[in-house]
Amino acid sequence: MHFTGRTWRPPYEAHSVIIQATSGCTYRKCRFCSLYKNECFRMSPMEEFEEDLAEIKTYQPYARRIFWTGANPFAMNYENLKLRALTVRDYLIKCQTMAMFASIRDIKNKEVWQLRKLKAMGINGLSIGVESGDDETLTLANKGYTSADIIEQCRKLDEANMEYYFVYMTGLAGKGAGYRNAIHSAELFSQLNPYFISVDSLTLFPDTELYQMSQRGEFVPADEKERICELQVFINHLNIRTHLFANTVSNYAPVTAYLPYDREKVTNELQYVIEHTDEQTMRDYRASLKSLGTS
Ligand code: SF4
Repeated sequence: MHFTGRTWRPPYEAHSVIIQATSGCTYRKCRFCSLYKNECFRMSPMEEFEEDLAEIKTYQPYARRIFWTGANPFAMNYENLKLRALTVRDYLIKCQTMAMFASIRDIKNKEVWQLRKLKAMGINGLSIGVESGDDETLTLANKGYTSADIIEQCRKLDEANMEYYFVYMTGLAGKGAGYRNAIHSAELFSQLNPYFISVDSLTLFPDTELYQMSQRGEFVPADEKERICELQVFINHLNIRTHLFANTVSNYAPVTAYLPYDREKVTNELQYVIEHTDEQTMRDYRASLKSLGTS
């Protein structure tokens, strides 16, 4: 298999067969992220992609879901995605779904009819690290798009009936701003139909711009308890039926919920953690984290 550089897949794709479609990220400007900092974006040549498919076929001929690695393989244009999706089907006859990371920017150059066609070819299940639906937070994180862009592009996915998952990041808005971020994000996400929402919590790693900003006093990270309160507010204001997975390593108190049914139960669980754990214990936990544990 041709895996080069950093290979990253979300925890919920653990049962998918993985193949490298791209490596690196087309953007590399999010201030909290250093994942692909030293890696140029590269599309795997078709020969490489096909060699890997042939290899997968030898040991997983009936693979039903494959995950294309790289920060945003959906950055490929329609024709390229189509060619690869059809090629996957040449090798893996039972493959039903090809999932991958995508950015809001990657949807912009695709029409709804193209999204529909790609879905029909098996491309479905886009993991979108929007992180927030609050414009101030999006600007602070330098995500490169606005809340209006999120609405406009994800409505196209909804129209094409293409499944997508959001990532929300607590703590990203900084100290004192978690409440605003949670309300605005929940309101925005509630206008869309993410199949589920995965929640991470900001961990400042030294090789990120946000860390440098914090050293200069330009960014003050939120306390750990504030982040858990932020998650409570986010859950309380989400007004759609969706699954929520706040159980990656970056969450001090891992919880999962099917909303709105589990709303009260989960916010009570989080309240218990707030009342029975001291801030320093939580900070020590975060300081011990060695990787993002996010997507
Ligand atoms: S968060 Fe995603 S889009 Fe932003 S720089 Fe990192 S990999 Fe690229």
